[in-house]
Amino acid sequence: MTGLVIRILTCDETDDGEVCDAEYGGDADMPSLDALRSEAAENGWRHLEGYGDFCPDHS
Ligand SMILES: [Zn+2]
Repeated sequence: MTGLVIRILTCDETDDGEVCDAEYGGDADMPSLDALRSEAAENGWRHLEGYGDFCPDHS
């Protein structure tokens, strides 16, 4: 059995009280959260220090 750490970003925006369910990542080969965030940024995601991560629809 193998334990995997899978890094994933989830959108921190809420719509009418519902947390956005957008996610980015899921690749077990991603070396760090920073690397995942820079790849996500190329795909429209935005990270705001102290606020969270936001999907392309909410960035
Ligand atoms: Zn979102």
